Amino acid sequence: MPLLVMKFGGTSVATLDRIARASKRVAREVANGYDVIVVVSAMAGKTNELVGWVEETSPLYDAREYDAVVASGEVVTAGLMALRLQEMEIPARSWQGWQVPVKTTSAHSAARIEEIGTEAINAKFGEGFKVAVVAGFQGISPEGRVTTLGRGGSDTTAVAFAAAFGAERCDIYTDVDGVYTTDPRIEDKARKLDRIAFEEMLELASLGAKVLQTRSVELAMRYKVKLRVLSSFEEYDPNAGTLVCDEEEIVEQNVVSGVAYSRDEAKMTLISVADRPGIASAIFTPLADAGVNVDMIVQNISEDGRTDMTFSCPVGQVARAEKALAQAKDAGSINFRELVADQDVAKISVVGIGMRSHAGIASKMFSVLANEGINIKVITTSEIKISVLVDRKYMELAVQALHDAFDLDKV
Ligand code: ADP
Ligand code: ASP
Ligand code: MG
Repeated sequence: MPLLVMKFGGTSVATLDRIARASKRVAREVANGYDVIVVVSAMAGKTNELVGWVEETSPLYDAREYDAVVASGEVVTAGLMALRLQEMEIPARSWQGWQVPVKTTSAHSAARIEEIGTEAINAKFGEGFKVAVVAGFQGISPEGRVTTLGRGGSDTTAVAFAAAFGAERCDIYTDVDGVYTTDPRIEDKARKLDRIAFEEMLELASLGAKVLQTRSVELAMRYKVKLRVLSSFEEYDPNAGTLVCDEEEIVEQNVVSGVAYSRDEAKMTLISVADRPGIASAIFTPLADAGVNVDMIVQNISEDGRTDMTFSCPVGQVARAEKALAQAKDAGSINFRELVADQDVAKISVVGIGMRSHAGIASKMFSVLANEGINIKVITTSEIKISVLVDRKYMELAVQALHDAFDLDKV
C-alpha cells in the first residue's frame, strides 16, 4: 500500500473543530488508497504555555523534566486526532515517541533522531489500520527518558518518518499556503514559490524562516524525501503549496529567491583583547562549553598588540555568554578591558543559489540599506547568502526594502 506522511502544525490542530477538519483531509487520502502516518504538533500556544510553567516552577530546570512536561502537548493532539478518525470509521491508532520508538540522542530539548522503529506501526497497518497518528517533536533517549527535538521539531519528526517508512511524499500542513519569498506576515507583497531548492530552503530556515525546522530540510535533502508545504485551511488541490526539491527541478530561478530575518539577536564585543595566536580559541571554547550558539564573528583591526573581537548570539544567551567570559577572565585565559552587549539587533539575510554565478548582490544589498538610513553592524557571507546585523527597530523596513529592490514580488 502506498504511504503518505501528513504533518499538521499547531494552528491546524488548535481546536477540536480544526482537528476534525484536518481529519477530513486525512480521510480523503485514505479514500485515495493511501496508508497515512499523521504527525501532529501541540495545539497552538500550548508548548509556550508548558515552557512557561516549567520556567516558573524551576528557573534552572532539569532538562529531562522540561522534556517530560513539554512533550505532553503533542500527546494530547495525537490521541484526539485518533479518536476523531475512529469516529469517522477510519481505523486509527495514536503513537507517542517512545512507543514507536523514535530513538534519539540524550541532548534534552535539542535531541536528534537516530533511528525510528518501523516494525510496530507496520504491524498495525498489516492488521488493517489505515492511520498511525504520531505525536511530533519527541522521542526517547538511550537512558529511556522522553526527549524533545527543539522548537518546531514536529517538522523533523514528519520528514524522519517519511524517510524511515519510504513515504511517497511528506506534506507539511501549516497556516500559510506555502513557502514565500519572505515571511508574508511582515511583507504583504511576499510571493508564494511553487518550488524551492533544498539548499535555499536550508539557508532560509537556518536564518530564521520558521516555516520549516532546519533539521527537517537537512533530512529531506539527505534522504531525498519529496517535501511539500501547504495550507490546512484552503480547499483541497493536489498541486497546492510549495515543493522543496533539487535545484535541477526548478526552471525559473531569480538570483535572489528569499529574504529571511531573525529578530532576537545580540551583538557582543570584547574590547581590547591581546592579539596573539590562540586568542580566538581562548574566547570561543568557553562559550561553546557554556552552550552559547555563536553565529557571526569579526575580529577588528589591531593596534599595539591589542584588538576588539565581536560576535553575535541569540539574545536569550547573553547572560550565559557574559558569565562564561567573566570566568575565563578570572581564570586568566583571556584578558579584555570591557564586554559590551548590544541586545537590540536583528539579522537580515538574502538567499539565492543564483548568487553563485552573479556578482554585485552584496553591494546592492548594502546600498538599499544605506538608502533607508539603516546602519549595518556586522556582515557575513557564504556562497548563497549574505547576512547583516542591524538595529532591531529597522528589521521590518529592511526586509521590505530588500524584497522590493530584488523584485521578489515578480517572477
Ligand atoms: P506550524 O505551527 O504549522 O508549524 P509555524 O508557525 O512553525 O507553523 O510556521 C509557519 C509560519 O512561518 C508562518 O505563519 C509564517 O509567519 C512564518 N514564515 C516565516 N518565513 C516564511 C516564509 N519564507 N514563507 C512562509 N512562511 C514563513
Ligand atoms: N509544539 C512544538 C513547538 O511549538 C513543536 C512543533 O510544533 O513543531 O515548538
Ligand atoms: Mg512549525
